[in-house]
Amino acid sequence: MSARASDAAEAAFARLEVSDEFADRLRTAHREITVQLPFVGDDGRMRVVTGFRVQHSDVRGPFKGGLRFHPTVDLDDVRRLAELMTWKTALVDLPFGGAKGGVSVDPRSLSARERELVARRYIEAIGPAIGPRADIPAPDMGTDATTMAHLLDAYSRIHGYEPRIVTGKPVELGGSLGRTVATGRGAIVALETVLDHLGRTLPAQGGDVTLAVQGFGNVGQHAALEAHVRGYRVVAISDVSGGWHDPSGLDIPVIEAAMVAGAELAGLDVSGATPIDAIEPLFVDADVVMPAALGRVIDASNVDRVLAPIIVEGANEPLTEDACAVLESRGVTVIPDILANAGGVIVSFFEWVQGANMLAWDEAEVLARLDARIAAATRQVLRQAGEGGSLREAAMDLAVRRVVRAMELRGTA
Ligand code: NAD
Repeated sequence: MSARASDAAEAAFARLEVSDEFADRLRTAHREITVQLPFVGDDGRMRVVTGFRVQHSDVRGPFKGGLRFHPTVDLDDVRRLAELMTWKTALVDLPFGGAKGGVSVDPRSLSARERELVARRYIEAIGPAIGPRADIPAPDMGTDATTMAHLLDAYSRIHGYEPRIVTGKPVELGGSLGRTVATGRGAIVALETVLDHLGRTLPAQGGDVTLAVQGFGNVGQHAALEAHVRGYRVVAISDVSGGWHDPSGLDIPVIEAAMVAGAELAGLDVSGATPIDAIEPLFVDADVVMPAALGRVIDASNVDRVLAPIIVEGANEPLTEDACAVLESRGVTVIPDILANAGGVIVSFFEWVQGANMLAWDEAEVLARLDARIAAATRQVLRQAGEGGSLREAAMDLAVRRVVRAMELRGTA
């Protein structure tokens, strides 16, 4: 078990002079579960995949975090991401802690039936450790609302009908309106709050702001669409297959409409745009760059190619610590992941609240509450950072302080 928190958290512990007793509790997860998940594949043969659930901290509320199906998932990944969730939920002041789940499997290699079996085996295996007041999974890379429906069903068969066991479920089963767009939209709201603070004229007021987005999945696609609707020029986008660049601005709704099931950007015909490699949106000439695909895509080897003065971390950990330090020393504003992509967990919280009260808010109400919470958290981070300070450090300081305060209040006996 790791005896060190993430570098960002360790730095915050030092800045805030967090006592060793508290820091040590935050350096190790509360609980780590590794399970074997046997299932019979479509070819009639038994397969076994490995699953994980790491529950980092529940000091501010039930453990909360996504479940990822990805071939490279391992315990170290899940540990890091569980810790990140503790800081994210604290920063946006949700009554949740931090957790993460993963299964080492390539979801594209499984049929729909096989994916359902893996989801059911996962819940059966970790079931005793989760619950609507204990630990609440949600979708992440490689899982979606359908996966959540299968988790809900598997849990409810044992414990009785319990829709609050997951968030990000289909609306017909108690999911929240607005969940699908929440992360991308939240990232744009955080960006607008920062632009306003920097004295930039927003596109809605006639300003010209260009944006490049890497990743065209849930986060990247909805961020690009939201930006387009608000009048930004989205000059570059990409997915795993490649991407497109057009300095005069891409027609995102048209591209989005062409992305029918299974389509990839490289296969489209985008008139007037130049085809580019999947990594290139990170390096084009734009006011804002948003990595919204994988982690660690900007590192020491390529940080010098970044031209944009503002980076929005749509993905989790898209910048390595050293790349982030280089960018900030150059005066680049980095809007950190625990703020920029918190929209998803905020609407997950709204879903949980609606479920607990057996009611459903309309979409406009969900989005208004989301915007207000992200904007308030962003203003708090800007205040904490002061003139020219690092937003990442400010965000971590606010989050760590809230978690430590909850530990103090709950007592140590
Ligand atoms: P997703 O699976 O829906 O989409 C991922 C996108 O990235 C796809 O378009 C894929 O083609 C693209 N991609 C993969 N490899 C690429 C590469 N090498 N270059 C360019 N594009 C590449 O995933 P998502 O839900 O959009 O999540 C993206 C990131 O955001 C992840 O880091 C995830 O943990 C994080 N995140 C997601 C949410 C959410 O609500 N979905 C919330 C918080 C954080």
